[in-house]
Amino acid sequence: MPSDSEASVEHHLAASAERADYLVELSNVVRDTSLGRHGPRSLRRLGLVLRALMELTRDPDVSVYLVADTSLLGGHREFGNQAEVRRLRGWVADGLVEEVDDADERVLELARMTASPVVTGDRYVDHRVEHPWIQGNTWQFLKPTARPDGSVALVAMDMGVRSAAEISRRMELSALKKQGLLGPSRTPLTEVIMRTWRCPEPRCTLYDIRKGDRILLPRMRRGVPTCELHGTPLEDEGPRLGTTQLKAVIDGACVARYTLGEGSEAHVGRLPGQVGIALHSLLSPQIARQVSRMHVAVSARSGTVLIRDISTYGTRMRRAGRHGAFGPWEKLPPQTDRPFRPGDEVELAPGVVLTRSGRRFPAELADAWRTEAARVPVPPSAAAPTRRA
Ligand SMILES: [Zn+2]
Repeated sequence: MPSDSEASVEHHLAASAERADYLVELSNVVRDTSLGRHGPRSLRRLGLVLRALMELTRDPDVSVYLVADTSLLGGHREFGNQAEVRRLRGWVADGLVEEVDDADERVLELARMTASPVVTGDRYVDHRVEHPWIQGNTWQFLKPTARPDGSVALVAMDMGVRSAAEISRRMELSALKKQGLLGPSRTPLTEVIMRTWRCPEPRCTLYDIRKGDRILLPRMRRGVPTCELHGTPLEDEGPRLGTTQLKAVIDGACVARYTLGEGSEAHVGRLPGQVGIALHSLLSPQIARQVSRMHVAVSARSGTVLIRDISTYGTRMRRAGRHGAFGPWEKLPPQTDRPFRPGDEVELAPGVVLTRSGRRFPAELADAWRTEAARVPVPPSAAAPTRRA
């Protein structure tokens, strides 16, 4: 179990929502007094959540993007430990916490743009008119829940369907369509994440993907992407090239990651060469014998990720279904590209699995949104846990 020493928390903090595996509504976590007796506000609860995420993902490098209300630091006297307040201020200054007037609204905006899961205890009932996609969501919101031993588990919340908001949902879908037709004055979120943006202020680099580690996703104000700092509408800088991450998982633990960019190809195997993931030092001798030097090729083309078996002994794959279930293992046809989606598992040898992180390419996000928009709303009477199987 990794320690929760001072340094280890920072290790998990991402400076960009797009690069994080999870979004965390920090104010909600810090104030959740059901998570340990640490007073009204405590950063120790974030440490507990990070442990829970490492446990859930079995990834010691799992990363989070923190969003907090300005009132979290505004009420600094409620922190029992003032060293935590200084530490939190440092994170804000370093761009590791996005501090906003309304964290709920920002978290939901980011969750929708990135499709990343959110750690929060909030059910966002009052936001469902603006965010009807929350309706019936069973996978994207994880509630930190204390276990009897003081540790924390993350439990996926069934957000349920609120009947009053169902009408609003249809309203928004039609409004979105209209926005798409209205042109540049209103930009649908699908467009926002597929483009790069630039603030007209000459020295502002908050959205510049070529500079710095911190890239904000635009704040949407009345349908217009605007600069968080200057409040000015952002200028469209052209299409955004996506990246995704491959994860090598051995005996259930993530042991290596590789970032794959649009238009590139990587090999995974025992000793695949310079581009990709080399597994030789991570495998026992008997398993290593079953893994080819170059076992699979993964490529990113036109916003989708493809996998190709190039091994001697073959590769199996199983597809991610709804609600975290998997389809059956199937052998990959040799030398043939197949779609490789977030959640799918590719098995090179027993216990040697390749996955993608939850991060999706912009084109995949747009596809997911189209599917979501086409989905027939479910009446509350049918809101049983097995619906839409
Ligand atoms: Zn700016």
